Amino acid sequence: MDRVQGGQAQAGRAQEVAASGAADELRDLPGADFFGYEALLSDVERAKLAELRGFLAREVAPYAEEWWNRAEFPAHILPKLAALELSTPVQRGYSNLFAGIVIAEITRADTSLATFFLVHHDLFVESLYEFGSEDQRSRLLADAASLRTTGAFALTEPNHGSDVAGGMETSARRVSGGDEGDYWVLNGAKRWIGNGTFCDYMLVWARDEADGAIRGFIVDATLPGVSRSRIENKIALRTVQNADIVFTDVRVAEADRFAGISSFEDTNELLRGSRIMVAWQAVGQQLAAFDVARQYAVERRQFGRPLAKFQLVQQQLVTMLGNAVASTGMMVRIAQLEDAGAADMPQVALAKSYASARMRETVAMGRSLLGGNGIVTDYRMAKIFADAEAIYTYEGSFEINTLIAGRAVTGVSAIV
Ligand SMILES: Cc1cc2nc3c(=O)[nH]c(=O)nc-3n(C[C@H](O)[C@H](O)[C@H](O)COP(=O)(O)OP(=O)(O)OC[C@H]3O[C@@H](n4cnc5c(N)ncnc54)[C@H](O)[C@@H]3O)c2cc1C
Repeated sequence: MDRVQGGQAQAGRAQEVAASGAADELRDLPGADFFGYEALLSDVERAKLAELRGFLAREVAPYAEEWWNRAEFPAHILPKLAALELSTPVQRGYSNLFAGIVIAEITRADTSLATFFLVHHDLFVESLYEFGSEDQRSRLLADAASLRTTGAFALTEPNHGSDVAGGMETSARRVSGGDEGDYWVLNGAKRWIGNGTFCDYMLVWARDEADGAIRGFIVDATLPGVSRSRIENKIALRTVQNADIVFTDVRVAEADRFAGISSFEDTNELLRGSRIMVAWQAVGQQLAAFDVARQYAVERRQFGRPLAKFQLVQQQLVTMLGNAVASTGMMVRIAQLEDAGAADMPQVALAKSYASARMRETVAMGRSLLGGNGIVTDYRMAKIFADAEAIYTYEGSFEINTLIAGRAVTGVSAIV
């Protein structure tokens, strides 16, 4: 089990744990995968998962609170992360279940790192696979997959979040001929773009001035006319560098347009894939909350006995675990449907809304189980609690995913 790390407070608590013998008690307890879903992975996948866990325990968990407190992205760990060769695992022959468990497991150690991972791999790299031309793939894919370059996905705008498909204001105007060949001129603004402050490339979605269709462009972040500023003062995912980005007469070569995109519908499959990964994040967030709360309940003593001995504490722990297990169960089935090649899948919207609602309950219980210590990041739970809020909102908010599922089961849209 992860230990709370960082600073003198940590050293003090570690000594307390050693003195109380609680660490031994914890060693004999079952893990948060109470129903044994990991047994559905292949031997190769389980070995890879163990390797990932080793990396997370060594390189991420001990420092994650420090990065979060300072709102700093740990760029120095990217070569080691890349060495695990986990970019777009399904393209490498792993199952969709494994791909989801990878995201849950990274989230369990640090939600922000998982968000970096899925923005870069599940949105940027995956888009190159899905929509990139031969030329674009040969120019960009190898460096991106091995994290020598990083990418972002720029869809949301200051005035359009949930309604961005219909409301997108960022414009693209095609200019034909000239010495430099055909190019496009982009104007507009994007908001909340993860990795946006440091990425090398961003996928920018814009409306074609000629026919109103949504088009996708690979934009080199250093092009003249691109200006990016970090969103400050966040209370969630502080390690993720979200940016406001403004495009002023940015010239993008026709060779950098995704020829395969001619409407917003074309991006839907991509967004469905990343929505699945965000639902897996809601699973990982609950596993993390359970890990920390259970450890605390076993170690912390009040009224002369461990918190774990109180019935109300056990009830909350079991509710948290039940939420995590139920959310995982839904995601396991989603992974099976993906493996079977299912299309559309309105189940994804239900899974995202259900898992994120359960997550909010789970992290709130976890926060309360740690008492006052639940509001300081030294004890991990405060960060888990706060980061859950981003998961609740992005990749389709709880409400929007609920309404997508509602539309599927009633045949009537209540979104507009
Ligand atoms: C930490 C973080 C990282 C992000 N990363 C990225 C990124 O990398 N790239 C990117 O493009 N975007 C990113 N986003 C943006 C994210 O996808 C949007 O925040 C999300 O789509 C919601 O849009 P909004 O924030 O504008 O809220 P709004 O759409 O303004 O919604 C506000 C509230 O109204 C509700 N609401 C809206 N419409 C309806 C309706 N019809 N019925 C009922 N309720 C409704 C919403 O559910 C929400 O509760 C990120 C966001 C966050 C917070």
